[in-house]
Amino acid sequence: MLILDGKIASAAVKATLLEQTQALKAAGKRTPHLAAILVGSNGASETYVASKVKNCEETGFGSSLYRFDTEVEEVVLLAKIAELNQDPNCDGILVQLPLPKHIKESKVIEAINPAKDVDGFHPVNVGRLVQGLNTFIPATPYGIILMLEHFNIETKGKNAVVIGRSNIVGRPMSILLSSNIAQGNCTVTICHSHTKNLKEVCLGADIIVAALGVPNFLTGEMIKPGAVIIDVGITRVEDATAKKGFRIKGDVNYEEACAKASAITPVPGGVGLMTIAGLLKNTMKAYQGL
Ligand code: NAD
Repeated sequence: MLILDGKIASAAVKATLLEQTQALKAAGKRTPHLAAILVGSNGASETYVASKVKNCEETGFGSSLYRFDTEVEEVVLLAKIAELNQDPNCDGILVQLPLPKHIKESKVIEAINPAKDVDGFHPVNVGRLVQGLNTFIPATPYGIILMLEHFNIETKGKNAVVIGRSNIVGRPMSILLSSNIAQGNCTVTICHSHTKNLKEVCLGADIIVAALGVPNFLTGEMIKPGAVIIDVGITRVEDATAKKGFRIKGDVNYEEACAKASAITPVPGGVGLMTIAGLLKNTMKAYQGL
């Protein structure tokens, strides 16, 4: 059984990007710059943003972090985005989600210049993705595609099941896997909270992408022998014996899945690391111009 190790695959992506930034520096040019906006002090969001900034530095990118209190007015956020849209030294803008309830996420996302929308959430970029045009692919599905590519996982003609239909993971993942691209050409079934007979649907899958946010949801009895399992889930589960008081759990029962699968992503150390690789690649793409 093959472990789809995110450390290995993301290191390969980052090494290529580092070579590119070193060449830019040697030529006296500026390197790509990512601006991250963080509202409030949600523990998980803090961790994600810190990791994104750290990875920018490791890859020779510039980065800025703009922090706002939970009570920040929507208009203030929109003004910051307008300023970054105009800034010629800022290539990519990311707003860490979720945002507090009084701020309309769609309004904030739509305020970002689509040419700087490195998260790929702007409707213009989503439309381009659906039409198979050059675009920013949302970082997590993009990272999964990069992972499949790195480990030479054959997808053409396979049955893929995506569990979860969110705009940031499940929906774009289903589009990519069904697209006519090297890591696509699957027959895709997208499942959600109203899907009936999920176990039977999963048993017909050669590839399963679990992105629902329910720890240990995908059990061994739902997996066809030899299937490829991609675990997107990240849930903090309280555990008094853990140093931080919680452990990160994926959506897949790892031990049971290992007994059935031909390849599997671990959690942590799998898709999460590839998400950052996808974001960095998008930022380089924004710098170079879509
Ligand atoms: P979401 O809550 O927006 O969407 C969850 C989806 O799962 C929904 O479409 C829902 O219909 C479906 N669902 C829920 N319960 C279900 C069930 N019992 N059966 C079938 N479908 C069900 O979540 P999201 O933002 O897409 O994130 C999903 C998980 O992935 C979360 O754990 C999140 O933390 C994680 N995540 C990880 C990364 C990463 O980089 N690894 C990135 C983004 C999200």
